[in-house]
Amino acid sequence: MKKTILVSSCLLGYGVRFDKTSKPLLKEQLSALEDKFNIIGVCPEVLGGLPCPRRPAEISKNREIRTQSGQVLSTFFLKGAHGALNICKNYGIQLAVLKSKSPSCGFGKIYDGTFSGCLINGNGITSDLLLQNGVKVINESELDDWLKTVKE
Ligand code: SF4
Repeated sequence: MKKTILVSSCLLGYGVRFDKTSKPLLKEQLSALEDKFNIIGVCPEVLGGLPCPRRPAEISKNREIRTQSGQVLSTFFLKGAHGALNICKNYGIQLAVLKSKSPSCGFGKIYDGTFSGCLINGNGITSDLLLQNGVKVINESELDDWLKTVKE
C-alpha cells in the first residue's frame, strides 16, 4: 500500500503564495511522487486563516512573524503549523516535501526577517513543528536525490 506524504500546496501548482502564484514542481517530479505516494497538499498559511493574496511576512530574530509594516501574524502561522501537524498525525504521515525559504514551509534556509533578501540558517514555523514531532522534512531542491533513495 502506498504511504501518504504531505506536500506544500504551492509546489502542487495551487496559487496560494502571498501573491497568488504557485511554484509547481516539474511534471516529472510530480508524476514520480504520485507513482510512489498518496499526496496531501497543504498551505499552512491559508490553513491558519490568512487570505490570498496577503502581505509577505518573515520571521524576526525572536521568532515573531511580521509583515514589513510590522503587523504580527504569529498566531496565524502557528495555527497553520498545528493544522499541518494534525494532518500528519491523522494520516500517519512521516515525510513532508515543503517549499524552501518560506517562513512556514522553509527548511534549512529562511529569510532573515529584514525583508532584504538575505537568507540565514533556520526553518519555517511549520517545518520546525513537524520536525519536532518526528516528521522528516525535505525541500523541493532535495527531491530528486531523495526520490532515488525510495525503494519500489
Ligand atoms: Fe507554499 Fe507553504 Fe507558502 Fe503556503 S505557506 S504558499 S504552501 S510555501
